[in-house]
Amino acid sequence: MTDPAPSRAAGRLAARPSVRPRDLMTDTPDLAGAWRAQVVTLFPGAFPGVLGESLTGRALRDGLWSLRCIDLRAHGIGRHRNVDDTPAGGGPGMVLRPDVMAAAIAEAGEGVRGRMPLVYLSPRGRPFDQATARRFAACDGLTLICGRFEGLDQRVIDGFGIEEVSLGDFVLTGGEIAAQAVLDATIRLRPGLLGNTASAEEESFSDGLLEHPQFTKPAEWEGRPIPPVLLSGNHAEIARWRRAEAERLTRERRPDLWARREGG
Ligand code: SAH
Repeated sequence: MTDPAPSRAAGRLAARPSVRPRDLMTDTPDLAGAWRAQVVTLFPGAFPGVLGESLTGRALRDGLWSLRCIDLRAHGIGRHRNVDDTPAGGGPGMVLRPDVMAAAIAEAGEGVRGRMPLVYLSPRGRPFDQATARRFAACDGLTLICGRFEGLDQRVIDGFGIEEVSLGDFVLTGGEIAAQAVLDATIRLRPGLLGNTASAEEESFSDGLLEHPQFTKPAEWEGRPIPPVLLSGNHAEIARWRRAEAERLTRERRPDLWARREGG
């Protein structure tokens, strides 16, 4: 290994033949208007992962957003590039060292401009939701820290004032899947991502309701017809039906969301 700090860049920059290899690895911030995703991870090979497919993949190739992975291992200590150690006070597993993580965060900070929240994916964080996705999409980018093992030394979380975000009340083996979920939900809200911007306005959570059920052809499947109102051509009736279904589903499935609507 000749380069102590390998990192990977993807998107329009990676496709430009004029930049030198070193620039490819550090992702010089000359992508005008691109929303910047940075991910600190022990597994850079997991990115862009599913974000390289479909709408987010095309947007990455078109330069609407950029992706830079910071390899935590490159900041590890000693010949074996150790990144973790045993928990103080005992107990199972390993904890990511604060000095190693701080070095990776410093690398992430190089050349960064604008508003870029620093986020640690953590089951102890505030549950991720559509409002948070909107907040992140309104920033210039996001730096996401993926934990592994028993997680991150608390001092680095406190020292950098890192925001903790959870994907939900369950425990993953690492933050990479959570990071991709957060990035997907955020990037699709960026201008130019969804061809039909109305679909972002009408979908689940945008107005505090779950979305109404969807149907498509055939008109009848296995003895089940599409609700006739949807084929009536009466747009006012259709809108009323959809609204009623959205409210019914939200009341039945998400009393918490429903209560928040009534309260607010
Ligand atoms: N011992 C920790 C869990 C560590 S899981 C605890 O009980 O809180 C290992 C890593 O997976 C975490 O550092 C975090 O980055 C990621 N992770 C696990 N569950 C997650 C969740 N629900 N949301 C976001 N990240 C999660």
